[in-house]
Amino acid sequence: MSAELDDLYQEVILDHNRAPRNFRALHVGRKAEGFNPLCGDRLTVFLQIDDGVIKDVAFQGSGCAISKASASLMTESIKGKRVADATRMLEQFQGMVTSSPADPVSGLGKLEVLAGVRQFPVRVKCATLAWHTLRAALESPDAVVSTE
Ligand code: ZN
Repeated sequence: MSAELDDLYQEVILDHNRAPRNFRALHVGRKAEGFNPLCGDRLTVFLQIDDGVIKDVAFQGSGCAISKASASLMTESIKGKRVADATRMLEQFQGMVTSSPADPVSGLGKLEVLAGVRQFPVRVKCATLAWHTLRAALESPDAVVSTE
């Protein structure tokens, strides 16, 4: 593995790929499906929102290590948050992964491990798929989104 790929596939990402958190379906609430045709990643994000708070969030699907780790980290990061705070985090995350690889990264905690995708533009869509799908779930129940 090259040093660059090493950066991309950090231990946290490998761990979340091997043992994704909140990897299950919810039978209440809303859901959205997302598809990244460039890589073949396919995700369903489930959301249970109660009184403006994300009470529960889960995902299922199949895809590359980056897409799965990103979805897993996302569920951990937004669970229990207010919808408005999760939306802010979503925008911050998208800003981070589409910024220049030289730009400093801050304010996103564990999600910052995914900043490595900035060196691999084709991987940015893998990292943002879960977040695009989350947005769809927040905005319209039972939506299907594509990163294309
Ligand atoms: Zn992918």
